[in-house]
Amino acid sequence: PAISAIARPRFTAMRSYSTETEVGETHEFKAETKKLLHIVAHSLYSQREVFVRELISNASDALEKLRHLQVTSQDVQTDKPLAIDISVDADAKTITFQDSGIGMSAEELKENLGTIARSGSKAYIEKMQEGQDTKDMANTIVGQFGVGFYSAFMIGDKITVFTRSAQPGSQGYKWESDGLGSYTLKAAENVDVGTKIVIHVKEDANEYLDKGNLEKIICKYSNFVGFPISVNGEKV
Ligand code: ADP
Ligand code: MG
Repeated sequence: PAISAIARPRFTAMRSYSTETEVGETHEFKAETKKLLHIVAHSLYSQREVFVRELISNASDALEKLRHLQVTSQDVQTDKPLAIDISVDADAKTITFQDSGIGMSAEELKENLGTIARSGSKAYIEKMQEGQDTKDMANTIVGQFGVGFYSAFMIGDKITVFTRSAQPGSQGYKWESDGLGSYTLKAAENVDVGTKIVIHVKEDANEYLDKGNLEKIICKYSNFVGFPISVNGEKV
């Protein structure tokens, strides 16, 4: 493997994908996304644990999509059995959600993690623009509709996403953001097919770095997930 890595110049991959999307650059979030992220990060303390539900449901959706492609005998690439692996590292202060699902291309990363797609979030932004008192609404929105992937910013001050699409021949990518105004998107080597989300946990969210506590929350939300889930290598 070392020989092929040397033989293949690194810029080849970068160059062939840079035509599809501006990889290797800093991208600004849209204004409405910034507003939502600000609220998510600052005013939703009472329901912070729902980030677990949101990330497990995204992983499950991604695995379901891959399984669908497999059973309809389409050409997809997989590295590992279909599963969700969660790990917590109290020293590094990180929680990681890894799935072996369908993954994302650079375009999909930009589209899916850079803009607000969820109807609940959109309705929320509209109320906010109408000048309503949105702080009171925040918990309702999070509870009823969820804020999806962005909920990771309730407990994380930096989120790093590694992903590679199951489309054969796909390149891996690294997406990273502090949830303030922008994110970076870069091509990355040695990324497994699927998606790995690393949450760098905030100082005031240390309770989620407790493995027992995290496991309890995972069990609460994992009942209806049709794929195996593990925490630090142990089945839950
Ligand atoms: P929703 O799940 O309601 O669409 P989210 O904010 O939770 O909204 O996620 C936005 C989009 O990002 C998803 O629709 C999906 O396309 C993409 N996404 C999020 N997590 C993953 C994942 N683990 N694997 C693949 N795609 C994902
Ligand atoms: Mg979701």
